[in-house]
Amino acid sequence: MNRPYNFSAGPAAIPEEVLQTAAAEMLDWHGSGMSVMEMSHRGKEFIAICEQAETDLRELLAIPGEFKVLFMQGGGVAENAIVPLNLSRAGTVDFVLTGSWSQKSRKEALKYAAEVHVAASAEASGFTTVPDPASWQLSRGASYVHICSNETIHGVEFHELPDLKSLGSDAPLVVDFSSHVASRTVDWSRVGLAFGGAQKNLGPAGVTLVVVREDLIGHALPICPSAFDYKNVAEADSRYNTPPTWGIYVAGLTFQWLKRQREGQLAGIAAVEARNTAKARLLYDFIDASGFYLNKVAPHCRSRMNVPFLLADDALNEAFLAGARERGLLQLKGHKSVGGMRASIYNAMPTAGVQALVDYMAAFERERA
Ligand SMILES: *Cc1c(COP(=O)(O)O)cnc(C)c1O
Repeated sequence: MNRPYNFSAGPAAIPEEVLQTAAAEMLDWHGSGMSVMEMSHRGKEFIAICEQAETDLRELLAIPGEFKVLFMQGGGVAENAIVPLNLSRAGTVDFVLTGSWSQKSRKEALKYAAEVHVAASAEASGFTTVPDPASWQLSRGASYVHICSNETIHGVEFHELPDLKSLGSDAPLVVDFSSHVASRTVDWSRVGLAFGGAQKNLGPAGVTLVVVREDLIGHALPICPSAFDYKNVAEADSRYNTPPTWGIYVAGLTFQWLKRQREGQLAGIAAVEARNTAKARLLYDFIDASGFYLNKVAPHCRSRMNVPFLLADDALNEAFLAGARERGLLQLKGHKSVGGMRASIYNAMPTAGVQALVDYMAAFERERA
């Protein structure tokens, strides 16, 4: 039996093979007699699961040795506070606003950073572009510069991370990569810290990935909760307190699935990136060629993961969604702040799912336009 295609923005589709392995191992993990959910986080079984997950992730994303990999709780939203608590050093932090998520991060930082400066904003465009880094007004001596490298709601993606050094800044770059982590390679030479909740592209909700350069650890403000101090979490190998054990396990299965992916000569993240590029092109090319559907984002920064689009007539939205559900195309309703539709096409969405969506969109247009 084929499962429907799930276009949810998050929590989102998980590869079927991962779900099947988790189901098969649910009652008895590898002959231990225990479900992963029942294991001590300090026992040898769970420690092996956690260490394997980190090893696989490091290999997949080519994370250099000077970065720590932390599995935390709280989601991306908690990191909006945890990052300034750990990195702001009671100084100025810079933000580049490219959509709802970076706006939200800035608001939270106001509570903890001494000064929050907006270095650039795309708000005047309705968040349909990324401001040219050459135009950013970076502060001197900022503690860090925050960007959201994939704006899940507005469908805006940085296809290249900014090189702050070439812009005259020594500040570390903080990247919220929640909604496109593991969809493409990362240039770590440009990154100080990257964080993301798992529920878009890595696994179930509950685990938050933080990849942080070692020299940025150990400078938390005194008010930082000890469970959120990166130093404590790093020193305890993500087991300072009980980590989200089930989430780490399923994320680990996803990392193994990613390692198995092939596309021609490509393997792992490179294979997935090539597939994601092709999936996104299929959908955007169809939208652009149509007079009925519209995506307003500038082509150079369109997200490969989240594709918002409007129908020519908003009055047809409900009929579009109902017809989609009938064909097994789920959760296409757009975010309320932008309206219309949104197709989230993360790693777990096969090309056939995007093709099925395009076929449906074409049929709907023929019928209703
Ligand atoms: C989903 C998302 C978040 C929020 O994650 P939570 O787990 O709900 O805290 C943060 N940033 C981005 C870019 C997201 O897409």
